[in-house]
Order: sequence, then structure tokens, then C-alpha cells
Amino acid sequence: MPATSKKRQATEQDSDTPAAKRTSARYVDLITILAGADKSPFVVHKYALCNKSKFFAAACKREWKEGVEKTICVPSITPEIFELYVHWVYSGKIDLSLLPLVSPRAGNSRSDDVEGGAQDVQYLIELYVAGDTFMDEPVQNKVIDRLAAKMECWLEGGGMCIQPGHIEYLWSRTSPDSAIRDLFLDSIASTMVKDQLQPFRAMKGAQDFWYSLAEHQLERGDLCVEDFAPTWERRCVYHVHRSDEERRACEQRD
Ligand SMILES: [Zn+2]
Repeated sequence: MPATSKKRQATEQDSDTPAAKRTSARYVDLITILAGADKSPFVVHKYALCNKSKFFAAACKREWKEGVEKTICVPSITPEIFELYVHWVYSGKIDLSLLPLVSPRAGNSRSDDVEGGAQDVQYLIELYVAGDTFMDEPVQNKVIDRLAAKMECWLEGGGMCIQPGHIEYLWSRTSPDSAIRDLFLDSIASTMVKDQLQPFRAMKGAQDFWYSLAEHQLERGDLCVEDFAPTWERRCVYHVHRSDEERRACEQRD
């Protein structure tokens, strides 16, 4: 018998529970999630989903108590964004290449393309809002990391991808004290000039946005751009953390 299989046998014998039983226990129960208005079905492992999302953990508990069918509807989350979320649940990564670009420009990489960049920003903010619905702060913080890295590039002259649609979406779905609003306001204040803000006048909910931008400018008034511009290094400022200890631990991790 080769040395490796002897070793494997020994490990299995040493353990209290047989390997097959241990590994299958968590990944047996499946649950169907119907995403978006047209109820696109996704079949996922209940353990994997509930391990990441407090929203689904609570919903599954309720469903188990009521003995109803293992189906949960999330009409406000589009199938595209739920696809990103399922990938996150299993891999702990955000993979935007899973989603199509409506008008990709040949020859440009996804992040350099202005339209592609803006569309990726939209996907990211929708995933952030989904993270809020699903009560999954780590995915929200992962989105913030991706956005902070993009915004640092814009600061160095790598294009500017904030569009009125992004602001409309965020301002209608987040609370006024939400950190992602600060992230966008900091990026606008550090990269945009007055003329670039022209298209933001006609958008829905413009008044709210202009008020927050004015308030933000007053607060940041005496600071240099370097002190508030979103960068990879400053990303924790915009994270969702439930306590000061959690924030300190996150800052120290880097
Ligand atoms: Zn943090």
C-alpha cells in the first residue's frame, strides 16, 4: 500500500466521526431562491447561504418551523446580482466577469473602459444593497474595497465613472448616514470639477444629493484632498462594522 493512502487511512481511523458523514452533513439540504420580479430560480446549499446571510438564516428557521416548502422569494434582487451573490457565498470572492457588459468596447480591458467601468460600478452598488438586505456585512465591505481601489485609480487620472444613475440608485436605497454615500461624495469632491456635475442636476432625487454634497463640502472644507479622497488604504473608513473592536481588528488585519 502506498504511503499516502496508509496516512489517509490512519487519519480517518483517528477521527471520532467517519469522514463521509462529517462532510455530507452540511451540504445536503438545498433551498430554492426566486430572484427578481420574474422569479428566476437558484438552487443553493442551505448551509452555505445561511452561513453568510443572517437574513436567509432567519428565513430558513421560519420556514422550518412552519414546515413550508424550501423556497424564498427576493423580488428586489435581480437574477444578475443574485448570481454574483451565490458566487460570493461559495468562493468568498466578487467576480464581475460573470456578468455581461451591455456595450463592451473591443480592445479595452473591463476596468479601463469608461462604459464598462460605470456598469461595473452599478453592479457593485447593487451587490452592496443586496448585502444590506441579506444582512451580510462582509460582502458589503468587499464591495467597498473594490470601489475604493477603483476610485484611487480615478484620483490618479484613470477615468471617472460616477454617473447620475449610480447616485439615483444609492440615494433611493440607502440611509442618509450610510458610509457608501460618504464614499461617493468623497470621490466626487476629490475628482470632479463643476462642469462634470451638470448631468447630475436633472436626475431623480437631485435635491437630496445636492444637499448632502453641500453638507459634505462644508464638513471637508479645511481638509486637503489627500485627507479625504477614497483610497485602498483608507477603505476601512467606509466599511460597515458593528463595533469599535471589529473596526480596530479590521484595520489591524491589513
Ligand atoms: Zn474595516
